[in-house]
Amino acid sequence: MAIEWYPGHMVAARKEAALAMRKTDVVIEVLDARVPRSSKNPVFEQLRKLNQRAALKILNKSDMADPERTRLWLAHYNAQPGVKAVALSAKKPNEVKRIPEYAKALAPHRNSALKPLRMMILGIPNVGKSTLMNTLLRRSVTKVGDEPAVTKMQHRHELGTGMWLTDTPGMMWPGIGEDIGLKLAATHSIGKNAYDVAEVATALGAYLLVHYRACLEQRFGEIPADCTGYTLLGVVASRRGFVARGGVPDLERTARSFLGEFRDGSLGRITLETPEDEDEDDAAAPPPAESADAALPDASEAPDGDEHPDE
Ligand code: GDP
Repeated sequence: MAIEWYPGHMVAARKEAALAMRKTDVVIEVLDARVPRSSKNPVFEQLRKLNQRAALKILNKSDMADPERTRLWLAHYNAQPGVKAVALSAKKPNEVKRIPEYAKALAPHRNSALKPLRMMILGIPNVGKSTLMNTLLRRSVTKVGDEPAVTKMQHRHELGTGMWLTDTPGMMWPGIGEDIGLKLAATHSIGKNAYDVAEVATALGAYLLVHYRACLEQRFGEIPADCTGYTLLGVVASRRGFVARGGVPDLERTARSFLGEFRDGSLGRITLETPEDEDEDDAAAPPPAESADAALPDASEAPDGDEHPDE
């Protein structure tokens, strides 16, 4: 299943965000800890690396992710130059309030009102960016919703003396691969009209049968040894009594319910990928290039153009 979900407003937003990166010291990238590889926007990752901006990678929703796999992901990212990774829950103020301190450590030379620390926050839809911003700014500045792409404009906020934070809307990229598309549909980062719910639930079921069978059995009872992602839906339908007209399993309703249980954490703390999956992507193909946004000047050399006190 090819998923193409790149709404028009994201094209303009991507260009704006690429410009904002010129005046950024630290890129705060919000990832979904259940799919750190799939929730990374490869266009911005490439742009950030080309322009040598430091990254603070936030593995959000870690309360729903597999703690052992989160540990592997943190080690994977923290081994990369100019990168600091932390796992947290955007809903927990005590965890979120440390973000400025982590960002400061990545750009220690930007430490005054004259040379403010300039951060920008990026994330694909539904990773919890609005929740994080609200917790960070301790006021309701962005609309939090469980439908992708609620925020549609870039905003800049002062985050204490000498710290600026530019907020960007959730952005996807064109040409999402099949495996990544299915995972992003499962975690609800892709609009529901862009995918087939039974196909996504089948792919999720197939993965869970291999990697989290115990979670499935705890939730649905014993699962037949020869069960596949598709037949799992039939098992769940019969256990839940989801029957359509004519007495056949209501697979559509089952798929929706199954995805809902994964999304709200009822199936347990689950992560759908490991750092090896990301290494395989990197070995297979370079991330997509966007020549129009190619190397930007160094942050300190960026031309004037807005009201930052040091520019
Ligand atoms: P955005 O599209 O990236 O701005 O995402 P939102 O902030 O609107 O959050 C999307 C959904 O994820 C909402 O239902 C939030 O309540 C939920 N959410 C955000 N952060 C967390 C988290 O750390 N843990 C859990 N369990 N849910 C979260």
